Amino acid sequence: MADDYEMLGKVGQGSFGSVFKARRRADGSLRVIKVIEVVALSRREQEDALNEVKILASLRHEHVVRYDDSFVTGDALAIVMEYCAHGDLHGALRARAGKLLPEPQVWRYLLQTLLGLHYIHSQRVLHRDLKTMNLFLTSRDTVLIGDFGVARLMGTHTHFARTMVGTPFYLSPELCENRPYNDKSDMWALGCILYELCTLAHPFDAANHGALILKIIRGKFPPPSADYSKPLRELVTLLLSRKEARRPSAGALLAHPTIGAKAAELA
Ligand code: ADP
Ligand code: MG
Repeated sequence: MADDYEMLGKVGQGSFGSVFKARRRADGSLRVIKVIEVVALSRREQEDALNEVKILASLRHEHVVRYDDSFVTGDALAIVMEYCAHGDLHGALRARAGKLLPEPQVWRYLLQTLLGLHYIHSQRVLHRDLKTMNLFLTSRDTVLIGDFGVARLMGTHTHFARTMVGTPFYLSPELCENRPYNDKSDMWALGCILYELCTLAHPFDAANHGALILKIIRGKFPPPSADYSKPLRELVTLLLSRKEARRPSAGALLAHPTIGAKAAELA
């Protein structure tokens, strides 16, 4: 119910609505409410919004944004979820103003995202829009995966063009070739995110979509700084493998000795 919350101010502007900080009156705790003006949306977009609720509500993991509640208010659909005080990872990286992250920080962000993604995939959910703008940071700087607006259960196909919002920096080679989205496409996006953590830049960047897609298909990117360790740089290359079969699944990556050891350090 809308009355259960006190709206405190806008924290973000999404593609289909606004995101507000709110206080739950019952216990004074902070929450985020994503308000989606459903009447303004096409049938398909309305389906996406309801889909986000359905998927988010079914997930429970320490590295996935926790869903609390949803309700209809006026012409809008409101989704109540965990408040991430440090905003999104995109903003946090921009705030570095070019100063590279220390390597342990890169591993920490990567592993937290990987643990969340492994859980999502184990629930047979594909995120389909992983990017630094959809990774949120708690007050303790822990990464939570959010924004399940275009997520789908594995095996349910939807048209590729539907996920195209903004510049498709995270588009995988198979999507460029109009082949279906699969868990390895999420792993490619994870590779793009890791690259950003190491360089503060996108692996593939161009002035227009056509040029960007050519670069992605060619697969060449400037290597991250040699100040980062070899295992880290090799992981970037592995995740950005053009062939899906070469790209590890989330489970395979966590089973890798180096990565498994890093994950154990975090636990
Ligand atoms: P969209 O589908 O419209 O991209 P998002 O769920 O990604 O919507 O939210 C848009 C923006 O709102 C984010 O980039 C972020 O700045 C802010 N935001 C979203 N969820 C949260 C949250 N749980 N905590 C804090 N800020 C959030
Ligand atoms: Mg988003």
